[in-house]
Amino acid sequence: MERALSAVGLCSTCRHARRIESARESTFWLCELSATDVRFPKYPRLPVLRCEGYEPRSPAQSPLGPP
Ligand code: SF4
Repeated sequence: MERALSAVGLCSTCRHARRIESARESTFWLCELSATDVRFPKYPRLPVLRCEGYEPRSPAQSPLGPP
């Protein structure tokens, strides 16, 4: 799991990221900032190693969104 997250980079711990799993078990990382700021692609090219929009997620927040 940790190795998989390092392949994702910053998005894996960013509060603006939403993890999306497709029916084919592929995983995509959607950047929610893309909805309001054109600097951010909807699906960032991974791994994201530097990002101006990065804000760490609080431990209680899940990349899967609210339950
Ligand atoms: S702001 Fe940057 S680090 Fe955060 S989800 Fe978007 S692309 Fe990833």
